[in-house]
Amino acid sequence: MEPIVYYQSTSFLSCYPEIVEESFYTAVNYAIEKYPEETCGVVIRKRDLVTRRLSKVEVLFHRCSNKAEDKERDFKIDPHVALGYRKSGALVAFYHNHTDRSECIYTTKDLRVQKANNLPSFILRVNRVKFISITVIGGGLWRTRGRK
Ligand SMILES: [Zn+2]
Repeated sequence: MEPIVYYQSTSFLSCYPEIVEESFYTAVNYAIEKYPEETCGVVIRKRDLVTRRLSKVEVLFHRCSNKAEDKERDFKIDPHVALGYRKSGALVAFYHNHTDRSECIYTTKDLRVQKANNLPSFILRVNRVKFISITVIGGGLWRTRGRK
């Protein structure tokens, strides 16, 4: 069983100080804007263009369009958009959001997809006006990969 950690909206960023806040809130605001649809994207540890080294402190959330048929219940990351972002650094996680209309904070499909990708998966939860919480599946891997 992969570790699953639940954070209230306010405590998440203090546990992940590498995440660039502005990029995170851009993803959160977009999820609120698209309510009740799910939104999704990739989380990238930025690579320095000159030294080619991965940044220890810059991890960015990047939005990808949701290509799922039923966007209110499912998500499918646009692979072309994701590939573009992957050129800027190392892929360290995926994210998508749920809304307050669904009961679950993660689904069996979410668990399956996380396991198949072997990367942490962030699941943001929003309602019509605000960010409620975030669930991290497989968060231990983030720490290991982050120390490269
Ligand atoms: Zn989900």
